[in-house]
Amino acid sequence: MPEVNSRHCLSFDIEEHFQVSAFESPMRRRHWEQYESRVEANTERLLGLLDEAGVRATFFVLGWLAERYPSLVRRIASLGHEIASHGYGHELITGQSAVAFREDIRRSKKILENILSQPVLGYRAPSFSITTDTMWATQILVEEGYVYDSSIFPVFHDRYGVPSGNPEIHQIFTVSGLLWEVPPSTVKYMGVRLPIAGGGYFRLYPYVILRTLLRKVEAKGSPLVMYLHPWEFDPDQPRMEGSLISRMRHYLNLDKTESRLRALLQDFRFSSIREVCPPISQFYSQCVVSAGFERNIFS
Ligand SMILES: [Zn+2]
Repeated sequence: MPEVNSRHCLSFDIEEHFQVSAFESPMRRRHWEQYESRVEANTERLLGLLDEAGVRATFFVLGWLAERYPSLVRRIASLGHEIASHGYGHELITGQSAVAFREDIRRSKKILENILSQPVLGYRAPSFSITTDTMWATQILVEEGYVYDSSIFPVFHDRYGVPSGNPEIHQIFTVSGLLWEVPPSTVKYMGVRLPIAGGGYFRLYPYVILRTLLRKVEAKGSPLVMYLHPWEFDPDQPRMEGSLISRMRHYLNLDKTESRLRALLQDFRFSSIREVCPPISQFYSQCVVSAGFERNIFS
């Protein structure tokens, strides 16, 4: 019987409700500044909920947002959460050149590190867009100083996923060095690998079923890797135009996310990726010393 891993990874992708890939259009992107911002209020609600439960998490923050709300980034970090990068402008890697991708992840890392005076070592691609076609991105992540990635979703999906991907936390060997991969959780059920890690799936399955599936992963000794977004806690957000499937995925059961997360936090023990994965913690300690960052990241 494998030892049950009692601590799991909880993560949030910090973005506005109008920045999600499901509603992406060049037209809408040009007007980002004109939409009502709801990310601060939604993130504050989330921080309160985590504080009540005494749980820390990893926050993958968009550089575009960090530039506009540096105090929000500082506040998240001051509560003991880990700050990581969600890229700068929420551009899918599948639509970027290698040069543009490098610029995007370099820019977001620099913005976040300048705000925090702490190393930023983790990355999650917009819409998990490291796929078989964009695997070159892993080498660039290493070259730009990232230590881990959480973007390779080992499932079939119309917009992302590497169905043959390794579902466990593992190392990827690139010509420029090693990258830790922290894939969102999946579970094999009746021969099919199901996504159970968060987002629309978290809101779709009845909670008791979700809990049973999560316990299956936990029983194997694997840490769960869950992800959610601040807009998922905001049932009153303005509705965007988009395809029927995109609207169904985005707006389904938004009024249930908060109570489900409360239940999840009662049933499982969560923390940030850096705290759950010892090799990643070690990299943070080394970076604080070698890059001359002043503050201890665990203080
Ligand atoms: Zn995103």
